[in-house]
Amino acid sequence: MDVTSFGIDHDLLLRGIYVSRKDMVGGDSVTTFDIRMKEPNREPVMDTSVMHTLEHLMAVYLRDHPVWAEKTIYVGPMGCRTGMYVIFKGDLEAEDIAGIITDTFTYITGFSGAVPAAQPKQCGNYLDHNLGITQWEARKYLNEVLLNLKPENTEYPRQRG
Ligand SMILES: [Zn+2]
Repeated sequence: MDVTSFGIDHDLLLRGIYVSRKDMVGGDSVTTFDIRMKEPNREPVMDTSVMHTLEHLMAVYLRDHPVWAEKTIYVGPMGCRTGMYVIFKGDLEAEDIAGIITDTFTYITGFSGAVPAAQPKQCGNYLDHNLGITQWEARKYLNEVLLNLKPENTEYPRQRG
């Protein structure tokens, strides 16, 4: 299957959930998802502290989940700060994870208390968190994108030629 993020047209890419790539690892499929929260080059990106808090909260929710913990390989920020990467075990499509990603962002918007694992022994930059703005960004993505997913929010625009 030819799935690669290199051929996508970032000028046309919207916010959404996209399959970035699929790989075989030791005979098993893994799918890397592009959890795109900002339109590339067309709106301000997220602050690094927001990416960091998102990473902690997404990781905690997915790794504690009764079904998805076992499938969760990796959660991390995109360098361009327009979204997050999540790698799940299995040959999956965006539709397969729309529910769990919606649940994850619902969890984040409702979270209260201290950011998990934001202590110097557990985190490489424990002061660099911002729960309030993370929840603002999570709520925006949840309401404007996840709860209103259209085909263009789950299928990459292909580069012509
Ligand atoms: Zn950290």
